[in-house]
Amino acid sequence: MDTEEAYLALGLDCRASDAELKASWRKLVARWHPDRNPAADAVQRMQAINKAYQHIRLVREGKLAEVAAPPPPASAPSASQAHTQRPLCVRKVRLSLEDACLGCIRTVRGQFSQTCPSCTGTGQRVLASACPTCRGKGAVRKAALFGWLWTEEPCPNCGGDGRQRSLCDGCEATGAQTLHYRRKVRFPGGTREGHVLSVPAARHGDLQVDLELHIQVEHHPLFTLDDQGVLRCEMPVNGYAWMTERWVDVPTPDGLQHMRLARDARVYRLAGKGFPAVPNGPRGDFIVRVTPVFPTLDDPQQTDLLDRLIAQSTQVAQADVDQPLGQWARRMASWQLN
Ligand SMILES: [Zn+2]
Ligand SMILES: [Zn+2]
Repeated sequence: MDTEEAYLALGLDCRASDAELKASWRKLVARWHPDRNPAADAVQRMQAINKAYQHIRLVREGKLAEVAAPPPPASAPSASQAHTQRPLCVRKVRLSLEDACLGCIRTVRGQFSQTCPSCTGTGQRVLASACPTCRGKGAVRKAALFGWLWTEEPCPNCGGDGRQRSLCDGCEATGAQTLHYRRKVRFPGGTREGHVLSVPAARHGDLQVDLELHIQVEHHPLFTLDDQGVLRCEMPVNGYAWMTERWVDVPTPDGLQHMRLARDARVYRLAGKGFPAVPNGPRGDFIVRVTPVFPTLDDPQQTDLLDRLIAQSTQVAQADVDQPLGQWARRMASWQLN
């Protein structure tokens, strides 16, 4: 059942609120419940209504995993052919950039539906007792021609076999049963957006299910992974700290790393701190590009400090005749004397 059909079955469209959804389902259940409605197709209607309602609820709760048919067996016989009857559950898994880089173990939870084993998908159970509508005869009499004639018709309630039916309570008459799965999955370091991880079957209840996990890597506030698989970070640094070659803390996927700034250097390479080139492979380099930021000069306190720094460093430099500033001062002095 697709979602559009499910809304149609409830006389709604996807804009309906949760309350409207529930109200519409209640109204239809009240109308079509076979205990109250003698129509021949009441059971089928009831099943369709419940199925649609359950489907929309799962979609709205974001719990509906798409259960795809197993792939057709390959033409060449393979070892996996024996397993092609197992259902395949395809779903997305979101990882943080750190988890994708370093690898992680996650518990993947979800649910999928299978044919209800207690009613084999019919949504109803055939009881040993006689059908109350036809008293077990399988046919009902119907008056025709103003009561002059009686005809016999197959009983609309039991379809002619004369046996009583009840709605299956194992599946709320939907014919389908929801199974929950919970798997611990190890994601290797170096997992990328778009990677597909196949997790072989494990037992969930009485069914074996293969998982096919499609990886999504979350956007990171500090790092970017470029198309070549290089992990990068762009960070502003204090311009004075950069000029004076101070140590700064750089964020990396495995935490803060101490890094010494070098005057004139804007790009730094932290070996082995980046993203693995291949899953489970060794980690590549992490590229850090710094942007030195100098404060604006309208703060009187900072301006005063800078004035003193300039004055003092000029004085020191001018006293040293081996330095360009010292040589320049001597040439200026002799020029002014002439
Ligand atoms: Zn059932
Ligand atoms: Zn009957």
